[in-house]
Amino acid sequence: MSGAGAPGGGHIPVFLYHAVMEDPPAWIAEFTVTPKEFAAHLDAIVDSGMTPVTISALAGHLAGRAPLPPRPVLLTFDDGFADLPGPTAEALAERGLPATAYLTTGAIAPGGRSLLPPAPMMTLDAVAGLERAGMEIGSHTVTHAQLDTLSGADLARELRESKEVLEDALGHPVRHLAYPHGYNSAKVRASSARAGYETATAVRHALSSDRDERYRIARLIVRRAHTVTDVEAWLAGGGVRVAPYRDGPKTVAWRWYRRGRAVLRGPEFAG
Ligand SMILES: [Zn+2]
Repeated sequence: MSGAGAPGGGHIPVFLYHAVMEDPPAWIAEFTVTPKEFAAHLDAIVDSGMTPVTISALAGHLAGRAPLPPRPVLLTFDDGFADLPGPTAEALAERGLPATAYLTTGAIAPGGRSLLPPAPMMTLDAVAGLERAGMEIGSHTVTHAQLDTLSGADLARELRESKEVLEDALGHPVRHLAYPHGYNSAKVRASSARAGYETATAVRHALSSDRDERYRIARLIVRRAHTVTDVEAWLAGGGVRVAPYRDGPKTVAWRWYRRGRAVLRGPEFAG
């Protein structure tokens, strides 16, 4: 395992947040932090002296186009909960922290449908303002499907339609994707590239690095039980593995179990 400062393997924490609120619906509570905890995490990032960047900066580095600033760190937000364009964007802006938001278009567009259970969500008409506030926008598919269980046609539609909806709202190309639940496969990664995405983030519960894989960038899910001490450990490059690395047998077994279940039951929320 290479840690912080290893030659060519500098660790990059990519934090994955969902909702930041006091009273989340039960299904997302495990992945929700309170505004007070969130503010403490952001202060820890500022105090670490690391350089927050958006996914485009990491993409530029992984494609060999542009160097990364020293000690980069990424803040990412999945799904598009209602707090994002409000207090969450304000807390980031107050500290001058850029971030990346991956939006599930079926959950935020008028008349849209997704597999996400009910929750207070932001709306599509707030997307352009979110970008102006300093947040880079990426796709998190249309319905939040487990992409590695879909047919080729359904997979292509999830990747294409979410991209188009966001591009119409923003007036420019959207080049970055986050896989719902982090689930991906060789087929999903190839389809993402074909659909015009330049990077895709997964989950993996690991630190990313300056030599991570472009179509499965490792992220760390921030859970309700995590503390500022956990955040500080991750910033320092401790506590978890550094990607890239090969999937272990448990990850592989769970993947095949989910794919078999999807054939029997059809699409469902896997949270
Ligand atoms: Zn999600």
